[in-house]
Amino acid sequence: MISKERISEILSGYDAKKLKIASICSHSSLQLFHGARQEGIKTIGICAEGREEIYDAFPLARPDRFITVEDMRNLPEGELAADNAILIPHGSLVEYTGAGLVDLEVPILGNRHSLAWERDRTKMFEWMKAAGLQMPETIDPKKIDRPCVVKTPGAKGGMGYRVVASPEEFEEHFGGQIGVIAQEYLIGVRAYPHYFYSPLSKDGYRTAEGKLELLGIDRRFESNIDEAYRTSIAGITFKPSFTVVGNELLVLRESLLGDVMDMGKGIVEAAERLFGGIPGPFCIETVIDENMQFYAFEVSARIVAGTNIFPLGSPYTAFTYEEPMSMGRRIAVEIKRAAKEKKLGKIIY
Ligand code: AMP
Repeated sequence: MISKERISEILSGYDAKKLKIASICSHSSLQLFHGARQEGIKTIGICAEGREEIYDAFPLARPDRFITVEDMRNLPEGELAADNAILIPHGSLVEYTGAGLVDLEVPILGNRHSLAWERDRTKMFEWMKAAGLQMPETIDPKKIDRPCVVKTPGAKGGMGYRVVASPEEFEEHFGGQIGVIAQEYLIGVRAYPHYFYSPLSKDGYRTAEGKLELLGIDRRFESNIDEAYRTSIAGITFKPSFTVVGNELLVLRESLLGDVMDMGKGIVEAAERLFGGIPGPFCIETVIDENMQFYAFEVSARIVAGTNIFPLGSPYTAFTYEEPMSMGRRIAVEIKRAAKEKKLGKIIY
């Protein structure tokens, strides 16, 4: 991993008045560019050739400048750093850059240690446990005794997952594959709360040295399981799959919000203890069972696509901000404030 000193050195050469927000044109980039624009920050979209025209369809979310690349695994670090860019990580960026993400020679919003902890499932579960979250059991494939979701490696939005109920079934579909885990299948309602942790603020819901905000909650649409009732009613039997295709809004019973904030606080404070914190956006993926208990099965240490439902704010940001506040805009607000207070080092690594 590139050292924090090296990133601070690059940042110290930046012109604070010309900071730009950069991201790969995918996942949640429309929202990131739109939010930056609302805050008067210029943007750079890293794009595969030919994809620029998609952004012509959304003029208020079109990046000010495109850098086209042939291979997303090779980001133009030098060019970005020369243009005062802060890179915002999202699911596609994490997937494209893989293990190389932590070595990128360009300032990244957040703490790149958290992305490394998210990448490695063993570490991610250690972090969630340290946060005090209730979690489903991870089961040794040879001892599968109940329905389990088998998860393939990487952030591919559930692609390739499958439910198995015995060691034989596991062996039939995943035998010999590396990095695959079997996790107890959780029954209940899925809820994916989106948080923003600011170490710069001393008001609001106090967490670690700063404050924690709840910017929204979504539920995902996954193919084919989320339209399974239609298939079943049509009399067709099928194997459920979990490939994420979109997101929808969820508002929780107000009595559950205490648990939502507690879980977020646990994640932030455990991140402080384990690897130096998690400034910026993150999400906890949960299932709420019939006894109103939350079970968390994953943490995303970055903006998640579920926030795309709220380009003009959510049913929760309405109670926090006078103006429409998306996660993209919240990120831009934080960068602007940190630059003004000369505290970029607190939110960037
Ligand atoms: P993930 O890659 O962990 O975000 O999972 C993709 C999707 O698989 C989730 O959005 C859930 O719908 C489903 N899923 C993952 N883990 C579980 C679990 N333990 N029980 C039930 N569904 C799960």
